[in-house]
Amino acid sequence: MTLALIRSPRLNERTTLRLGGTALAEAVVFSEAALDQLARELPGLGGRPLALGAGSNLLALDGELPLVLVRPVNNAAPDVRRLPGGAVLRAGAGFGLPRLIGLCQRLGLSGLENLTGIPGRVGGAVAMNAGSYGMETAQALSRVRLWTPEAGLFWREAKDCAFGYRRFDPCLGAASSLCLIWEAEFLLAADEPANIRARMEATYARKKASQPVTARSAGCVFKNPEGMSAGRLLDEAGLRGKVLGGMAFSGMHANFLVNQGGGTSAQALELIDMGRSAVRARFGVDLELEVVVLK
Ligand SMILES: Cc1cc2nc3c(=O)[nH]c(=O)nc-3n(C[C@H](O)[C@H](O)[C@H](O)COP(=O)(O)OP(=O)(O)OC[C@H]3O[C@@H](n4cnc5c(N)ncnc54)[C@H](O)[C@@H]3O)c2cc1C
Repeated sequence: MTLALIRSPRLNERTTLRLGGTALAEAVVFSEAALDQLARELPGLGGRPLALGAGSNLLALDGELPLVLVRPVNNAAPDVRRLPGGAVLRAGAGFGLPRLIGLCQRLGLSGLENLTGIPGRVGGAVAMNAGSYGMETAQALSRVRLWTPEAGLFWREAKDCAFGYRRFDPCLGAASSLCLIWEAEFLLAADEPANIRARMEATYARKKASQPVTARSAGCVFKNPEGMSAGRLLDEAGLRGKVLGGMAFSGMHANFLVNQGGGTSAQALELIDMGRSAVRARFGVDLELEVVVLK
């Protein structure tokens, strides 16, 4: 099987916040060969194509959403080419980011360990330019292999793409209905596995002490405004621990919206509105969403 088509996939089963109704369809792409078939099938599936990773940065609304999810599951063992002082590692978009970080540690390859604790897939990490504690995915990325229904597969150098804070723009020029990250290539430096492990452990311990890492969340709901912490602004505006139905701003870290059980996307949106209004009223700052809302 190279392409599987699923009708009416449930978004609450595909997102870590466990919210949302259904999409029109989901195309699960197992291999490169399936991409041609995907290009043929997409127009007939209707709706807007949307790339899906592990759903760890998504807030999906209720109802039937006019979306066709495209989920790459190319998760074979990454290809590693050793160089003097390091290696080039090529991983499929469907490979798990935590798994990749663990593999790099065992191989003695440094560059991704500051991303420890971030769930999701390689494709999602590149698309979101995921990062923590001053390190972003783009810093280790050398090339990305993209796919569009119109152009097929092609490589793009990282230096020719525009990255920003939780933003990736592959600068395609021409508008495309879908720009799928298919593979990513990272340039990593050689280091002792024990040193890398120590940095991974330090990063995870720091997160575990300050974030609800095991709760049902989508990570930080708002981006940090320049030079400020969104969590601190929310906290000082009185939102830490604020509950609405089954949803809440975490009592541990105000910028984490968590589903405590039985939460709905309507409650999530209402809390987001409350947070924004309170921070605007108190500090005159407009918070921008980091979480991607699917509608
Ligand atoms: C407990 C927790 C902690 C977190 N901590 C952090 C953190 O410290 N730092 C951080 O940056 N994020 C954090 N996040 C958010 C999230 O894990 C990251 O943004 C992650 O990189 C998203 O990957 P994903 O595969 O789940 O992507 P998804 O949530 O599935 O998708 C996110 C976006 O990327 C796009 N996308 C996904 N795959 C592809 C692809 N192959 N091609 C093109 N576009 C694609 C989607 O269309 C969507 O717009 C956290 C989340 C949780 C639940």
